[in-house]
Formats: sequence, C-alpha cells, structure tokens
Amino acid sequence: MIQKVFDNIYKIEVPMRDGALNCLNAYLILGERNLLIDTGFDRDETYKTITGALCELGTSMEDTDIFLTHMHPDHAELAGRLAGKNTRVYIGAEDAKLLNDREKTFNVRRQNPSSKGFPPGVAVDYERIHALRSPFSRSASCTYTEVNDGDMLEYGGYKLRCIDCAGHSPGQTCLYIEDIKLLFCGDHILFDITPNVSSWDDEVNPLKDYTENLKKLKAYDIEIILPAHRGVTCSAHERIDQILAHHNERLDELMEVLRKNGASSPYDIASALTWNTFCTWDDMPTFQKYSAVGEVIAHLAFLLDSGLIDKSVEGGVDLYSLAS
Ligand SMILES: [Zn+2]
Repeated sequence: MIQKVFDNIYKIEVPMRDGALNCLNAYLILGERNLLIDTGFDRDETYKTITGALCELGTSMEDTDIFLTHMHPDHAELAGRLAGKNTRVYIGAEDAKLLNDREKTFNVRRQNPSSKGFPPGVAVDYERIHALRSPFSRSASCTYTEVNDGDMLEYGGYKLRCIDCAGHSPGQTCLYIEDIKLLFCGDHILFDITPNVSSWDDEVNPLKDYTENLKKLKAYDIEIILPAHRGVTCSAHERIDQILAHHNERLDELMEVLRKNGASSPYDIASALTWNTFCTWDDMPTFQKYSAVGEVIAHLAFLLDSGLIDKSVEGGVDLYSLAS
C-alpha cells in the first residue's frame, strides 16, 4: 500500500510476516533522483512490493538511490538486489563496517553462549535456527556510501540532515528535514513497541548511546515523525519521554532481581524479569530468549558503566551482582 505523507514523500508498506512487526514502513522521496528510505528483507514478495510501488509512482530503481536507516536485515537486506548500476546506497559509517564484515556480525550470538548462562539445549536449538536462515546469506553484494552525523543530502527539493542515532544499532542514522520539521526516525523511535537495544558484549554501552541520542532529539522541532514500523500515537517528544522512563524502570527491575537473587548470569537475570509476551520464560521461543538476553546485557553494561553493579566470572560464566 502506498500513502502520500507530504509533497513528494510517500510511505510504502512492505510485508514482513515476522512476529510482532508485520510490516516495514519504507519511504520514497520523489525527485529528479528519488531516495528510497529502507528496503526490507531479501524476499521475492518484498522485492515485488518495492518495485511495484515505484512503478505505480511512475519511476523505477534506475532513478533511485537508497538510504538505509540501519543495518538490520528487515531494513537493509534487500538493498543489494534493488540497487542498479547508478544507485548509491547510503548508511551510517558504523553500520557499513558491520555489513562489510557480515560473517562476523551475524555470528556474534553463537560465540560462547555458556558464558552468558545459556543451558546447552537452548544453545543447540539456536544453532538449528541459525542454520535454517542466516541474514544476508543469499543477498546480492552491495557497495555502501557511508554517512556521518551532520552530512546533508538533497532529494525531491528537500535538504535532509543525517543525525547519528546510535543505540538500536551502532550506526543508526535518522534524516531530518528542517523546512517541514519532518523526521525519518528508523527504529530509533517506535510508538506501540519499544525499540530493542541489545548487546553481546558488556564492554560497549549501546543503551547509553541510545538514551543520549533520544535526549538529543528533544532539541529538534518535530511536527511529522515517520517511524520504520507501525504508526504514530503521540508527539515525538512525548514518546521520547515514555521510552526514557521505560528504560529507567527496566534498570530498576534488573537491580531488584540482583538484590533478591545475588550474583546471576545474563540468562538467569532474563528469566527472572517480566517480558511483554503471552508465554512463560520456559515456553518462550529460543530466538526470543536470545533477544531477551541481548537486551539484558545492554542494561548490565549500562549499570556496570554507572558503577552500580560488579562483574565476576565463575566456571566460565559471567556473573553480575550489586556493587559492594
Ligand atoms: Zn526494524
């Protein structure tokens, strides 16, 4: 489905069929050269949706560049297949590095799951799922044009400012059109779901980047906000406050688990937290358990960095406890 959102700016709903997010909102800015913002998974259905929408709008990929808000497969995987000879594919510099080293990037969660406290059965099941379909494994290769904070692009008569919004991914980049106070926010701000911030390494602190980059956006006048999934239910600034409050509550809940249970692995902490699902922790699908543990590690890294918790390693398992 195509919907006009502003002069020369269209939303294209791209089916995803995956879990809670049943579609991606891609956007097209029509101009002498067009800019397609996000692409979707590399599937025939997705490819047909995008090329069909361009055709309906009287154009094609020949005249279109691509801007990827971030490197996750539901946004970036199709870009290589869509890109023609003349297509520039823009993406934040940090995410370009990750996509240029895909073998490493998409295998991180397979490294040493026992150190995170995963029981062997869950780790074996993850290997099974990974073997079925690893991201980008069948995708056409793609040359990326890196963008950095403050870079300006011009499409459809609009000046678009690249804003570094790392957190959900290390190189997530939003686009802001000052003239019409419009923000393409990717997955940095979503409305009826909280953007996932996760890590597999407690030495980086994506939650700090994420929350700082949310606070940074409060300095921008935003009248139209265009997220990459689902709709908009309140103002951008209201939503920023809600998401910041959510993470503070989450950090409090995690501290409470450590207070009650003492030194715990990321897996044990995740199993003791509340999750917004219809099933119990034991019944949660393996892939979701891995996402949950990734989220827990991001929050643990934030608390470690703040000096509120300590880490030790016992029998090869990472354990976290309240700071003594
Ligand atoms: Zn997404």
